[in-house]
Amino acid sequence: MTEQRIENLIIVGGACAGYTAAIYAARADLEPLVIEGFQWGGQLQNTTEVENFPGFPEGLMGPEMMNRFRAQAERFGTRFITDDATRVELSDGGIQTVFVGDDAHRAKTVILAMGAEPKRLGIPGEMELGGRGVSTCGVCDGAFFKDREVIVVGGGDTAMEDSIFVSKYASKLTVVHRRDEFRASAVMQDRARETSNIDFKTPWVPEEFLAGDGGALERVRLRNPTTDAVEEMEVGGAFVAIGHIPGSKLLAGQIDLHDNGYVKVEEPSTRTNLAGVFAVGDLVDFTYRQAITAAGSGCRGALDAEWYLRDTPPTDEELVVDPEAEREGVAATG
Ligand code: NAP
Repeated sequence: MTEQRIENLIIVGGACAGYTAAIYAARADLEPLVIEGFQWGGQLQNTTEVENFPGFPEGLMGPEMMNRFRAQAERFGTRFITDDATRVELSDGGIQTVFVGDDAHRAKTVILAMGAEPKRLGIPGEMELGGRGVSTCGVCDGAFFKDREVIVVGGGDTAMEDSIFVSKYASKLTVVHRRDEFRASAVMQDRARETSNIDFKTPWVPEEFLAGDGGALERVRLRNPTTDAVEEMEVGGAFVAIGHIPGSKLLAGQIDLHDNGYVKVEEPSTRTNLAGVFAVGDLVDFTYRQAITAAGSGCRGALDAEWYLRDTPPTDEELVVDPEAEREGVAATG
């Protein structure tokens, strides 16, 4: 049987962190293979204008930004599989295997860059009005809501942080939370409560986001879960800040995760508890979650993988020679 090629590096995930890792790895001649996902581009694929990524003073659209990251990785020889990884078999210092359906892709190192997804309320209007008034990132989109009345939904630190940031632009901001108690730290809550244009409305939950004649968000229907009262509120913007779900489903039982499902790394490196396995971007980061921080983390991942390959002698498995390749005088070790 012909032994399959063993790659130097497989990167799982095609967004800010994964593509940045690919740019660095490709420029280091590692010929990375990116399993980028069927819907590559991550959260930026659902974002409109990005104004806070350095180097783009005019701003650019999220999907255009991802196209550029990807093109830059391709320019230096990155190869892509535009499909979802379906299973991984991770090893401590051995060969790493990533499956796409029945196809097994093997490598000496792997960088996990599957990101995280914002949690959704799952109510009518939420997805339809994404980019037209409903946002999942206050820090990214707050500046588009100058002098508007907005709500932030959630009761954790993200909701507080988004509120404090967005309140600098909004004329009035209401934090809508489903309970009277907050999960957010006292210091963040106090900071929000001390901000003059921030109000709190509890216990209320949004039931539907409604568009005006122009097709943008105009109203939100809220329900009080205690009294069942329903009311509508006029809003120019709504920020859903109810947490994120890391894309670590494939990794369960194979690698050390935090209780919240994010991958544990040996900060400031991107090393996981398994030698040769690195994790980057929002899959690791539940604090900053910005395009620029994900990109920076992807860069660190590529350098960590490069140094690991440089310093690690080949395993027996890598030394297996592909009989066909041998006839052509080429070893099967990537
Ligand atoms: P979180 O702590 O899990 O809080 C999520 C909030 O959303 C909770 O108040 C929750 O309500 C609410 N919620 C969840 N699902 C909901 C739904 N379907 N409908 C309505 N409300 C819903 O998430 P997070 O705020 O994103 O924070 C995640 C982690 O990052 C935390 O460890 C946090 O401390 C950290 N963080 C830190 C900072 C900082 O230190 N600067 C900033 C941001 C985040 P319940 O409380 O009722 O469950």
